[in-house]
Amino acid sequence: MAEEAHSLAIDQVVQKALDDANVSESDLSAVAVTVGPGLSLCLRVGVHKARKIAKSFRLPIVGVHHMEAHALVSRLVNKDLDFPFLALLISGGHNLLVLAHGLGQYVQLGTTIDDAIGEAYDKSARWLGLDMRKGGGPALEQLALEGDPNAVKFSVPMRQHKDCNFSYAGLKTQGRSTDDIPISSATKDDRQIRANIAASFQQVAVLHLEERCQRAVEWALKMEPSIKYFVVSGGVASNQYVRTHLNQIAEKNGLQLVCPPPRLCTDNGVMIAWTGIEHFIAGRFDDPPAVDEPDDMQYDLRPRWPLGEEYSEGRSVSR
Ligand code: ATP
Ligand code: FE
Repeated sequence: MAEEAHSLAIDQVVQKALDDANVSESDLSAVAVTVGPGLSLCLRVGVHKARKIAKSFRLPIVGVHHMEAHALVSRLVNKDLDFPFLALLISGGHNLLVLAHGLGQYVQLGTTIDDAIGEAYDKSARWLGLDMRKGGGPALEQLALEGDPNAVKFSVPMRQHKDCNFSYAGLKTQGRSTDDIPISSATKDDRQIRANIAASFQQVAVLHLEERCQRAVEWALKMEPSIKYFVVSGGVASNQYVRTHLNQIAEKNGLQLVCPPPRLCTDNGVMIAWTGIEHFIAGRFDDPPAVDEPDDMQYDLRPRWPLGEEYSEGRSVSR
């Protein structure tokens, strides 16, 4: 179904982007396309379209890493943001803490051992019966404003692990099993109970981010004392509560928080195009496809594509 939805949308989406920008294919310098990570069936639809355009108009192709694009779009909105910088990427499928040294050069300080925070927001919102049309995350954030964050006791994950990894599977399940949740404050009605659960979930979900980020800042500054910026991006970075709390971590450590505007935090084409521009300028691109390339050619997709090397000494550095 996902592949079919992509196939049905791709031509119109590309045409609309060109129309909105008031350009045609012949005005382009290159075509950037996501080659991973993700579902290969869906990635293939995009790569197929990109290669078709590149072949017809003799344009170079830039293969983009989806998560690098979430990180680098921050350089579009803040032109002073130079490497190296620390980045937290929080989305539906990823929870990454990386030290960005340069284009395509990342050291992974932490990742999730199970679910990403966006997945926990989405599933909790669904369980709370919220309107999912604009996404579970924004709905839960909204409801949490009416709740008491201390009403329900969620436990903070992974405190015994002195590293920068995350775990959100437990929080996701705790939100589901109300019987286990002692609702300590007096509750007025069903909506108030749900708001309390939302606020309590959010407080602990973000406290988990804060604790891991504080440690990651310390690790990162040991490796690269010149770091000035802390980038937070990916869909969950649109959340105002998340931004406020991570800004406190940045300020406490003398770093400047860079958070792209919400429309550039959640998935968007601009971040892919921008990352394409960065790589293109650096000379990292492929030649246009051969004129006789068959339409059913098997492309080089990267469904599993880690963003950089894992930081192995991490475990020995304790706070
Ligand atoms: P990935 O980037 O890991 O492949 P994805 O592309 O599906 O995953 P994004 O589009 O970057 O993810 O982000 C979508 C996620 O962000 C969803 O889980 C959504 O609920 C979450 N999200 C969006 N807005 C908010 C918000 N205001 N509060 C919390 N979560 C939010
Ligand atoms: Fe994404």
